[in-house]
Parts: sequence; structure tokens; C-alpha cells
Amino acid sequence: MDDINFYLDKGREFHGDVCPGIVIGTRIALAGMKKLGMDPKVKNRDLMVYVEIDRCMADAIQAVTGITMGHRTLKYKDYGKFAATFLDLSTGKAVRISAADSQREPPKTDNGSKLNMERMVEDLIQVPEEELLIIEEVEVDIGEHDIPGFPKYKSYCEECGEKILDRREVIFDGRTLCKACADGPYYKKIRVN
Ligand SMILES: [Zn+2]
Ligand SMILES: [Zn+2]
Repeated sequence: MDDINFYLDKGREFHGDVCPGIVIGTRIALAGMKKLGMDPKVKNRDLMVYVEIDRCMADAIQAVTGITMGHRTLKYKDYGKFAATFLDLSTGKAVRISAADSQREPPKTDNGSKLNMERMVEDLIQVPEEELLIIEEVEVDIGEHDIPGFPKYKSYCEECGEKILDRREVIFDGRTLCKACADGPYYKKIRVN
């Protein structure tokens, strides 16, 4: 195995500490890149990663791979799962990696004491890859409006007037609407200045 500590340090810098999620995310990221034949020490412009959870693990994957939401190379799928898919945009090759223990009951522990955390981190660093991770070759159908690069299309919501990029509008009763106006937004306007 590559020297994992080098990558755990990246995670620590980005996330603030090395918790169990950072170790899992780091191992998932290293395994994914290895499967795609990519070197995590160099910039991989063709790497895109779909992360299936917004927890510690996601930060490790960002720190190790260099993918970011702003470059459109990080896609967030709100599945609540310890899993991520690594896609090589130049070849279309993709691999989904999930934590093997997400399929079984976790061991009972006295919740999150510091000592326990350290032991979990140590265990997760040591455990062989075939026990920790499930690796599946997959296909990802990435749309032309999801790839990095200049936006190819823009429209305006007929309800709120705001600009919408990348074909995220919806047509409802013949009107072009943003998702907030079509489905109801996650926020409630209190006052417009
Ligand atoms: Zn954490
Ligand atoms: Zn709107």
C-alpha cells in the first residue's frame, strides 16, 4: 500500500482532524484512483467523482483527489451511503467503491470516546482492502450539461425571473420554471431588500 499517512495528512489539513470517516474516504479515494490507473500525486483533469454522502468521508475524497464542486468534478448524490464512484472522463471507465461494513451491523462501542476513536482510526488504516471495501465496475451516463467547461445553455424562470444554467429548468404547464418555483424552495422568503 502507498504511504497512507501522506494522504491522511491532506485530509487532516482540509477537514480538521483524522476521524474514522477521513480514513475510509482516503482509502476509498486511493482505491478508486488506483483502479482507474491514476496517480493521486499528480493533477488528474479527467477525474470526476460522485460522492454519495455529505459527511467526513467526502472531505477526504476531495483532499486526496483534488476534485471540487466548483470545477464540476465533484457530484453530490444525496444517498446517505458510504460510497463514491470514480469516473475517468477520457475513457468512460468507472468504478464504484463502497464501505463493506455498510452492509452489516456495526460493532457495539461505548459511543465515540476519544480512545475508541483512535482505535477505530488505527483499525481502519490496517484492515486489508478486501475486507474494508467493495469495488464494482460500473457505467455512468453523464449528460452533456453535467461535464466541466463553459455552460452550453441558459434560461430564465418565468416565475422569479432568475437565470438558470445547464438545463436545470423544468417545464410546467408549458412554462419554464426554476426548480425552486416548480417544486417549492428549501428556503422561505421573509423580506426582500
Ligand atoms: Zn470527521
Ligand atoms: Zn423561479
